[in-house]
Amino acid sequence: MFAKFKRYLIFAGFLFIFVLAGHGQNILPTPYRVEKSGGYFLFSDELFIGFTEREQEVAEYLRQRLEQYVKISGSSTTDNVIRLQLTDLPAQFGEEGYQLLVNKKMIEIKANNVSGLFYGVQSFLQLLPEKVQAGKEYALSGYQIPAIEVHDYPKYAWRSFMLDSGRQYQTPEFIKRYLDYMAMLKMNVFHWHLTEGQGWRIEIKKYPKLTDVGSKVATGKEQQGFYTQEEIKDIVEYARKLHITVVPEMDVPGHSEAALTAYPELSCFGEAPASVMSFSDVLFCGGREETYTFLENVLDEVCELFPSSYIHLGGDEAPKGKWNQCLHCQGKIKQEGLKDSHELQMYFSTRLANYLQTKEKKVIFWGDVIYQDNIKLPDNVIVHWWNWRGHKDLALKNAIRNRHQVIANTNYYTYLNFPVSPWSKYSADRTFDMRTVYENNPSDMVEPDPLVLGMGCALWTDWYVCEHMVDRRVFPRIFALAEQMWSRGERLPFDEFYRIVKEKYPVLREKGVDIGPGLKEEMEDDFSWD
Ligand SMILES: [Zn+2]
Repeated sequence: MFAKFKRYLIFAGFLFIFVLAGHGQNILPTPYRVEKSGGYFLFSDELFIGFTEREQEVAEYLRQRLEQYVKISGSSTTDNVIRLQLTDLPAQFGEEGYQLLVNKKMIEIKANNVSGLFYGVQSFLQLLPEKVQAGKEYALSGYQIPAIEVHDYPKYAWRSFMLDSGRQYQTPEFIKRYLDYMAMLKMNVFHWHLTEGQGWRIEIKKYPKLTDVGSKVATGKEQQGFYTQEEIKDIVEYARKLHITVVPEMDVPGHSEAALTAYPELSCFGEAPASVMSFSDVLFCGGREETYTFLENVLDEVCELFPSSYIHLGGDEAPKGKWNQCLHCQGKIKQEGLKDSHELQMYFSTRLANYLQTKEKKVIFWGDVIYQDNIKLPDNVIVHWWNWRGHKDLALKNAIRNRHQVIANTNYYTYLNFPVSPWSKYSADRTFDMRTVYENNPSDMVEPDPLVLGMGCALWTDWYVCEHMVDRRVFPRIFALAEQMWSRGERLPFDEFYRIVKEKYPVLREKGVDIGPGLKEEMEDDFSWD
């Protein structure tokens, strides 16, 4: 009887610890090292944020997140102190690593660089009540944070989320909401797919028809729209404060039906594309000089708008039917001593990359540019590995062999538009669940080549993935991808990881996220991806 009772006590004790440790106190992505010690930091009515001029912007961000919950005092006479400090941490912490120390007396966040401080703040915020994390009303005074010491730094320098605003237009408010989620997930690159067959979404002053015509070529209700240069500057600045770089993508020479509907004279046969709904062989003509002048002028404005040192120029899925027939293209092939239309795309890509080199920019191309043998691309080219489904790791291998940096963003399993169960044109072989991406993602490499710059994930908007459908595709599976981009430590077993992800659901719900299923068995009978 007694033994049974003792077992019960031990079990109850376990439960208690489990609940305490489990109640929103786990940080995601999982930090490199977390040590929990005894004691608590207790919030009172006042809080002092300690910083110098160098830490000011992060301190201001923190103040904005906390000021509705606690009086931010002007002096440190109080015990309640959060100190932000740029200092010299060991080299492995780099520019984005941080140390977070919570004890009875104070909270300290240290880093080598402001980005590290910012990520320390993001981790600290995850220790707060759900309502505070979501900006909802809450009485914080009297709330306790268990003492903790966190040492953390990312696996990759590049951690991107791509949004396809070409096929469907999203509002600037929606985009800012996603930038906030990215900051929470410690992602630092917003890869913005701004041009597609179905829509050109970026205002270019020199060529007004790109948006006057090109933003309205498709028929869906969320396919009419573009971003003014003022809106773009506002989004870029919003992202900057969240330590996110906005990398714009102008996808050329293919996926350009919207632009070529506006300016058909830049296609091989001066014709507007018959359809914009799928990629076609109506490309920017690679033989006409006017194409290069046009695109360089576009890039001049793009580079003014985006301070990023990277510009993405697409280059995927460009069938050469028209180029093979076009007198201008064939003339250029002859004139430049090229072998065929594939080499003409190399010429086209190289020329644009060299142009961007004069502006000290690096250029990203989808892996399609490097499938052939004997590829020579300029040194400032980075390869974006995507087509695992069609070519397995060919682009990765060829990029490394040719000494180009690589971003791993394979269509199995980093494309979050692929749902957990079939929907619309996404058949069963284009679905995946959270366990699959966590355990079998080809982009998640244990010992990546040093040329692997990082990892990306993507939300394409094919087949009318409209704004209201995005959340349930992205969440919760994006947590697995954020974990693979950031976390350096030993990987948790999936069930344990998923338990922690589910702890985050109340925060997400408070933020208004429409969370979808992570696994098929969670889907209720009436669940819809629409
Ligand atoms: Zn041509």
